[in-house]
Amino acid sequence: MSPLFVENALVIAMTREGDVVADGALLSDGGKIVALHGEARKRAGEIAAAGRPLERVDAAGLWLLPGFVQTHVHLCQTLFRNGPDDLPLLPWLERHVWPLESALDEETTEVSARLGLAELIAGGTTALLDMGTVRHTDAVFRAAEASGIRVTSGNALMDDASTCPPGLVASTVAALAEADRLLARWHGAGAGRLRFAYCPRFALSCTDAALRGAAERARAHGVLVHTHAAENADEVARVKARTGLSNLTYLDAVGLSGPHVVLAHVIHADGAEQALLAARGTNVAHCPSSNVKLASGICPVAEYRARGIRVTLGADGAPCNDRLDPFAEMRLAAQLSRVRPGAAPLRAWDVVKMATAEGAAALGLTDAGTIEEGRRADFVLLDPGAGFARPTSWRGDPYGPIVWSFDRIHVAATYAGGRKLFSRGDVAGPPGLRPRPDEIDAAVEKLRAGSHS
Ligand SMILES: [Zn+2]
Repeated sequence: MSPLFVENALVIAMTREGDVVADGALLSDGGKIVALHGEARKRAGEIAAAGRPLERVDAAGLWLLPGFVQTHVHLCQTLFRNGPDDLPLLPWLERHVWPLESALDEETTEVSARLGLAELIAGGTTALLDMGTVRHTDAVFRAAEASGIRVTSGNALMDDASTCPPGLVASTVAALAEADRLLARWHGAGAGRLRFAYCPRFALSCTDAALRGAAERARAHGVLVHTHAAENADEVARVKARTGLSNLTYLDAVGLSGPHVVLAHVIHADGAEQALLAARGTNVAHCPSSNVKLASGICPVAEYRARGIRVTLGADGAPCNDRLDPFAEMRLAAQLSRVRPGAAPLRAWDVVKMATAEGAAALGLTDAGTIEEGRRADFVLLDPGAGFARPTSWRGDPYGPIVWSFDRIHVAATYAGGRKLFSRGDVAGPPGLRPRPDEIDAAVEKLRAGSHS
């Protein structure tokens, strides 16, 4: 792959507020950003003068932003969209999601993951944390390897036969053995783009032994843990009835807290639990579209941030939002912060940071989330003139238009590791990744038949 030189862009680095360079430039080589602005122009000139190959992109009129990082998705659920739209979390899982997830096989899981990844990349996402499924997470990793972006995933642990459907439950020993196998097979694969995380689905789906086993293994191997927590009031009440503890206190008691832990949702946390999150450095993945659709509640993001808790953004699975769109999540996060009584509204800068630099930090991706020398060349080019929302009075502050006006239509191109994965001419998503319509239809039919048998 030849070096990539992008010039004449408005570079929005996301290192600190106001770090915005007009007519900026970026040079990447070997997948990394090796120079910016004047130095990038100088070195690109030297490469050209020496007659070496150089890919040039004139980004005049475009904005260059770090690629979005989504800290909670379910790639295996992309084909489950447009199911029942009016159920709260637990019946929605039991009647819609789990029967379809039980029916997944290697082929349908891969079709689902490819479609989800294609949609995510077309929206500018270049890194994500995925909760795989119980049995076919290899298929998720295969799709992720082909996608070109950074994916962290793991098999969903569901080992409590009293709460999990027969089609999904796996014994504690088998579930943890599968996790260990996937870690050995995929962690660090794809030239380091793929990583493994232990993924207990949520407290109610797991035995104490599975949660403790995941916690111990994650610490021993230095990998992430990803789980759902305190999403729904009924779920929180059931955890309390079963363990005698509040949801986050229980997770902490079994070892599931710390900077390597990413908890999805965390809507219903009392003051003591919030203090625990802050003290441990546990990360929260805020999924506003999902929370609103499933009537789960509103995550107290401003309160968390005031306590120093890192809050990031995720789309969650396709059937609960029903799009995998970072712009939808950013806009709704900003909106919801304004309707919580007494909370300070989230500023656009904070929201874009949550969707980029903070997300990368939560996933432990020390070379992503900002535009700086030495970082991986993962970025999006945004066209402020696309669609109807051309900003006319942004006065040098691009964060407001990105959060409040922009949409996926503004994504002109997505790059990961210095390679273009998507440009807006690719109406079907990244070439070769998105399944054909007949593949999608066949997979959906197979799932429907399997989930009713
Ligand atoms: Zn989820």
